Amino acid sequence: MVTATFRFYEELNDFLAPKRRKQEFTVPCARAATTKHMIEALGVPHTEVELVLVNGESADFNRQLQDGDRVAVYPRFEALDVTPLLRVREHPLREPRFVADAHLGGLAHMLRMLGFDTLYDNHFHDDAIVVAAEREHRIVLTRDRELLKRRAVTHGCYVHALKSEEQLREIVERLDLARSAKPFTLCLHCNVPLRPVDKASVLDRLPPKVREHYERFSTCDACGRVYWEGSHWRNMRRMLDDLLPGGEGDGT
Ligand SMILES: [Zn+2]
Repeated sequence: MVTATFRFYEELNDFLAPKRRKQEFTVPCARAATTKHMIEALGVPHTEVELVLVNGESADFNRQLQDGDRVAVYPRFEALDVTPLLRVREHPLREPRFVADAHLGGLAHMLRMLGFDTLYDNHFHDDAIVVAAEREHRIVLTRDRELLKRRAVTHGCYVHALKSEEQLREIVERLDLARSAKPFTLCLHCNVPLRPVDKASVLDRLPPKVREHYERFSTCDACGRVYWEGSHWRNMRRMLDDLLPGGEGDGT
């Protein structure tokens, strides 16, 4: 029988049974088990793993485990530069696009607020999420680790935080999104680009006070909503400034 010794690092420990956290442990492996099989069998979705070392050398997910192998499993590194090592996932997604599961509506709206294309529908079933992720190269956002274990899901993030603002902060940091944010360029409801419009062309759709106080407007061609830089906007702006220190901003 093949047995291998595992050690998981940092937040990957959250997925393990308590007695296996932050220490080495030895387990029997199924016949011809790969690193990916065993990592997921132990409870960790493959999407959360950035680097696997087997006996000190980087290995991919298809590596078959041999008796006595020592396996170290790492999440995304914060400080240590791992670029010279072979990572388990060869192609990072250049332009981050997302599909959020049905429980993450708040997070989905905030990602749209930052200008990130994010599919979300509170009737989404897991199968639809997997299809969207695969077909449109979207990163799956979920708190359901079983969803992240699906083979077709190559890029995903397990969302640890419970409150949407903290979830946004977590995802922005993990994926280093601050620099590519384009705040207030997408309709929060339709996830389509907003188009700047002349005040005159939307005048009849504006409440009197807005007509009086604001000059810059944009509209969504899908739902016809008109956006302006009102108090809601300013509140979001404040939250974004806090989240994106030195970020690009939207020029307002
Ligand atoms: Zn819209």
